[in-house]
Amino acid sequence: MKTKAAILREIGKPLVIEEVQIPELQPGQVLVKILYSGICRSQLNEIKGLKGEDKYLPHALGHEAGGIVKEIGPGVSHVKPGDHAVLSWIEGLGMDVPSTTYLKGNEIINAGAITTFSEYSVISENRITPITKKMPLDKATLLGCALPTGGGIILNQIKPMKGSSLAVIGVGGLGLSSILIADLMNCAPIIAIDINDKKLQLARRLGATETINSATVDFASAILDITHGKGVDYAVETAGLTETIEKSFASVKWDIWNGGLVVIAGNPPHNEKISIDPFYLKGKRITGSWGGLTKPERDIPFYVDLYLAGKLKLDELITDHFKFDEINQAFQAMDKGELVGKAILEFCKSEV
Ligand SMILES: [Zn+2]
Repeated sequence: MKTKAAILREIGKPLVIEEVQIPELQPGQVLVKILYSGICRSQLNEIKGLKGEDKYLPHALGHEAGGIVKEIGPGVSHVKPGDHAVLSWIEGLGMDVPSTTYLKGNEIINAGAITTFSEYSVISENRITPITKKMPLDKATLLGCALPTGGGIILNQIKPMKGSSLAVIGVGGLGLSSILIADLMNCAPIIAIDINDKKLQLARRLGATETINSATVDFASAILDITHGKGVDYAVETAGLTETIEKSFASVKWDIWNGGLVVIAGNPPHNEKISIDPFYLKGKRITGSWGGLTKPERDIPFYVDLYLAGKLKLDELITDHFKFDEINQAFQAMDKGELVGKAILEFCKSEV
């Protein structure tokens, strides 16, 4: 059986959509019909070669999707054919198969435990979480990366009390997801920072109470003004720039007993270093994040229930739709800063 897949063949060049042979399923692998996939800045960085040397070319990409399980390999026990599922790069229950390979003639096309820029994908069991069929799969796609990383930082790492103040630096899909969950947990104020006014308007619709355009003002000073000189209890940094990370550290509350916490979710370019004054670590804290400490089997059904109860604004978070064969236009739009919320790739549904 063959599938169309978008392949990265050369750094800095558009992805090439081509037909590749789907391999026989190994123990722990699952064949999934992809219906929708998200696109992330991390893939844009991969395409542009910002993640360092790429030893796996040519390779498939993509790490958040909604799809339907078609076939299961030996030993797979957590999903079955017909299941609707969220596909995520974050490891959950089941067997772990770190890589797979597709064939184009005799040429090997590499793929990781999960890739989603293809009509059918062979995916490791532990990257697949079955969900109720009541959940629309386009919205479910956001539960594969944006919500678990951005929302998980709030839900699993920060665990704010009602009324905690929070700044979110950079309001792409991840930052907007942090705002959605912070709003549900009654944080206030919720301050959104970005250089794009359209993104800031969307952040307000999703729960931000204040917005700062950091292209025109220094956001650290603006946050101190909003919080009457104290700084915020929490800052979620998603812009991934050394400067914004350092300013985030300046924006949180300095208190020996109950200092502010910065969670760095952005990925600065390979090998870049931040500079902070360690004196302020007497009180302030700074940490990283890996997938918002999400356990997919616990958190994805929680987000599904919130959505189905009308409490999670995933519809508003999706602002752009592209067909699968428009994937390069989608990444160009992301690169130019033209995407406001999350963009979703739609695949052919004829065989579903
Ligand atoms: Zn992602």
